[in-house]
Amino acid sequence: MTAVTSYEKCSQCGFEAGVNDLDCCTDELEFDCRRCGHSESVAWVTAEDGTRIGWKNEILDGHGAVWATRPGAGVSTSYGLRSAREVEEAAQKMRDSIAKGELDGNSSYVTRWNAEDKSVEVVAGKWLPLAEEDQQRQDDDLEQKSSSEIDNVCEEGNR
Ligand SMILES: [Zn+2]
Repeated sequence: MTAVTSYEKCSQCGFEAGVNDLDCCTDELEFDCRRCGHSESVAWVTAEDGTRIGWKNEILDGHGAVWATRPGAGVSTSYGLRSAREVEEAAQKMRDSIAKGELDGNSSYVTRWNAEDKSVEVVAGKWLPLAEEDQQRQDDDLEQKSSSEIDNVCEEGNR
Protein backbone atom coordinates (compact mmCIF):
# COMPACT_ATOMS: atom_id res chain seq x y z
CA MET A 1 0.00 0.00 0.00
CA THR A 2 1.35 3.41 -1.00
CA ALA A 3 -0.21 6.39 0.73
CA VAL A 4 0.17 10.01 -0.32
CA THR A 5 -0.57 12.63 2.30
CA SER A 6 -1.63 16.10 1.29
CA TYR A 7 -3.23 19.04 3.08
CA GLU A 8 -6.75 19.97 2.10
CA LYS A 9 -9.15 22.62 3.32
CA CYS A 10 -11.76 21.25 5.72
CA SER A 11 -15.28 21.51 4.29
CA GLN A 12 -16.80 21.89 7.76
CA CYS A 13 -14.63 24.52 9.49
CA GLY A 14 -12.39 25.86 6.69
CA PHE A 15 -9.13 24.85 8.42
CA GLU A 16 -6.40 24.87 5.73
CA ALA A 17 -4.36 21.90 6.98
CA GLY A 18 -6.78 19.00 7.13
CA VAL A 19 -4.91 15.77 6.42
CA ASN A 20 -5.87 13.86 3.30
CA ASP A 21 -4.45 10.35 2.88
CA LEU A 22 -4.80 8.84 -0.57
CA ASP A 23 -3.96 5.22 -1.27
CA CYS A 24 -2.49 5.22 -4.78
CA CYS A 25 -3.08 1.52 -5.36
CA THR A 26 -6.79 1.49 -4.61
CA ASP A 27 -7.78 5.20 -4.87
CA GLU A 28 -9.28 4.92 -1.39
CA LEU A 29 -8.94 8.08 0.65
CA GLU A 30 -9.41 9.36 4.14
CA PHE A 31 -9.65 12.96 5.34
CA ASP A 32 -9.32 14.08 8.95
CA CYS A 33 -9.51 17.61 10.37
CA ARG A 34 -7.57 18.10 13.60
CA ARG A 35 -9.40 21.37 14.30
CA CYS A 36 -13.10 20.42 14.29
CA GLY A 37 -12.94 16.61 14.04
CA HIS A 38 -14.66 16.41 10.63
CA SER A 39 -13.84 13.17 8.81
CA GLU A 40 -14.51 11.77 5.35
CA SER A 41 -13.59 8.50 3.75
CA VAL A 42 -14.04 6.87 0.36
CA ALA A 43 -13.56 3.12 0.25
CA TRP A 44 -14.38 0.23 -2.03
CA VAL A 45 -17.38 -1.94 -1.25
CA THR A 46 -16.49 -5.55 -1.98
CA ALA A 47 -18.74 -8.54 -2.46
CA GLU A 48 -18.19 -11.75 -0.52
CA ASP A 49 -15.98 -13.16 -3.29
CA GLY A 50 -13.75 -10.05 -3.14
CA THR A 51 -14.90 -8.30 -6.31
CA ARG A 52 -15.40 -4.55 -6.09
CA ILE A 53 -19.04 -3.64 -6.53
CA GLY A 54 -19.03 0.08 -5.72
CA TRP A 55 -17.81 2.97 -3.60
CA LYS A 56 -18.76 3.85 -0.07
CA ASN A 57 -18.44 7.54 0.84
CA GLU A 58 -18.66 8.09 4.58
CA ILE A 59 -18.88 11.55 6.15
CA LEU A 60 -18.64 11.96 9.91
CA ASP A 61 -19.59 15.33 11.40
CA GLY A 62 -17.05 16.64 13.86
CA HIS A 63 -18.23 17.77 17.29
CA GLY A 64 -14.64 18.47 18.28
CA ALA A 65 -11.16 17.03 18.10
CA VAL A 66 -8.47 15.65 20.41
CA TRP A 67 -4.73 16.16 19.99
CA ALA A 68 -2.74 14.46 22.75
CA THR A 69 1.05 14.67 23.10
CA ARG A 70 3.03 12.86 25.77
CA PRO A 71 5.91 14.91 27.26
CA GLY A 72 9.23 14.23 25.48
CA ALA A 73 7.82 11.48 23.27
CA GLY A 74 7.29 13.62 20.16
CA VAL A 75 4.38 11.42 19.15
CA SER A 76 0.85 12.75 19.09
CA THR A 77 -2.48 10.99 19.00
CA SER A 78 -5.40 12.69 17.32
CA TYR A 79 -8.98 11.73 16.67
CA GLY A 80 -12.38 13.29 16.06
CA LEU A 81 -15.19 13.44 18.60
CA ARG A 82 -18.68 12.43 17.51
CA SER A 83 -20.98 13.90 20.17
CA ALA A 84 -21.15 16.76 22.69
CA ARG A 85 -20.87 14.17 25.46
CA GLU A 86 -17.61 12.80 23.99
CA VAL A 87 -16.20 16.35 23.95
CA GLU A 88 -17.04 16.84 27.65
CA GLU A 89 -15.47 13.51 28.63
CA ALA A 90 -12.35 14.06 26.53
CA ALA A 91 -11.86 17.58 27.94
CA GLN A 92 -12.20 16.37 31.54
CA LYS A 93 -9.76 13.51 30.90
CA MET A 94 -7.23 15.83 29.26
CA ARG A 95 -7.33 18.36 32.13
CA ASP A 96 -6.61 15.50 34.56
CA SER A 97 -3.79 14.11 32.40
CA ILE A 98 -2.12 17.53 32.01
CA ALA A 99 -2.40 18.14 35.77
CA LYS A 100 -0.73 14.77 36.43
CA GLY A 101 2.00 15.48 33.85
CA GLU A 102 0.97 12.58 31.62
CA LEU A 103 0.31 14.92 28.70
CA ASP A 104 2.17 18.03 27.50
CA GLY A 105 -0.11 21.00 28.25
CA ASN A 106 1.52 23.15 25.55
CA SER A 107 0.97 20.70 22.70
CA SER A 108 -2.26 18.91 23.60
CA TYR A 109 -5.82 20.11 23.21
CA VAL A 110 -9.52 19.28 23.03
CA THR A 111 -11.73 21.46 20.81
CA ARG A 112 -15.50 21.89 20.59
CA TRP A 113 -17.20 22.64 17.26
CA ASN A 114 -20.02 25.16 17.52
CA ALA A 115 -22.29 24.35 14.55
CA GLU A 116 -24.51 27.43 15.02
CA ASP A 117 -21.89 30.13 14.55
CA LYS A 118 -19.39 27.79 12.81
CA SER A 119 -16.59 28.40 15.25
CA VAL A 120 -14.12 26.21 17.13
CA GLU A 121 -13.30 26.77 20.78
CA VAL A 122 -10.51 25.16 22.74
CA VAL A 123 -12.00 23.58 25.88
CA ALA A 124 -8.85 21.98 27.33
CA GLY A 125 -5.10 22.32 26.77
CA LYS A 126 -3.67 24.67 24.15
CA TRP A 127 -4.34 24.95 20.39
CA LEU A 128 -1.34 24.30 18.10
CA PRO A 129 -1.04 26.73 15.19
CA LEU A 130 -0.03 25.64 11.68
CA ALA A 131 3.28 23.88 11.13
CA GLU A 132 6.43 26.05 11.05
CA GLU A 133 7.12 25.28 7.38
CA ASP A 134 3.87 27.03 6.39
CA GLN A 135 4.98 30.10 8.30
CA GLN A 136 8.35 29.96 6.50
CA ARG A 137 6.66 30.00 3.08
CA GLN A 138 4.77 33.18 3.96
CA ASP A 139 8.03 34.86 5.02
CA ASP A 140 9.64 34.01 1.63
CA ASP A 141 6.80 35.71 -0.25
CA LEU A 142 7.32 38.90 1.72
CA GLU A 143 11.08 38.96 1.00
CA GLN A 144 10.53 38.74 -2.78
CA LYS A 145 8.24 41.78 -2.74
CA SER A 146 10.63 43.99 -0.81
CA SER A 147 13.72 43.18 -2.99
CA SER A 148 11.98 44.35 -6.22
CA GLU A 149 11.27 47.70 -4.57
CA ILE A 150 14.96 48.09 -3.72
CA ASP A 151 15.93 47.63 -7.45
CA ASN A 152 13.85 50.64 -8.44
CA VAL A 153 15.58 52.83 -5.89
CA CYS A 154 19.08 51.89 -7.23
CA GLU A 155 18.25 52.99 -10.83
CA GLU A 156 17.25 56.42 -9.63
CA GLY A 157 20.53 56.83 -7.75
CA ASN A 158 22.76 56.01 -10.82
CA ARG A 159 21.72 59.05 -12.83
ZN1 LIG B 1 -12.49 21.09 10.29
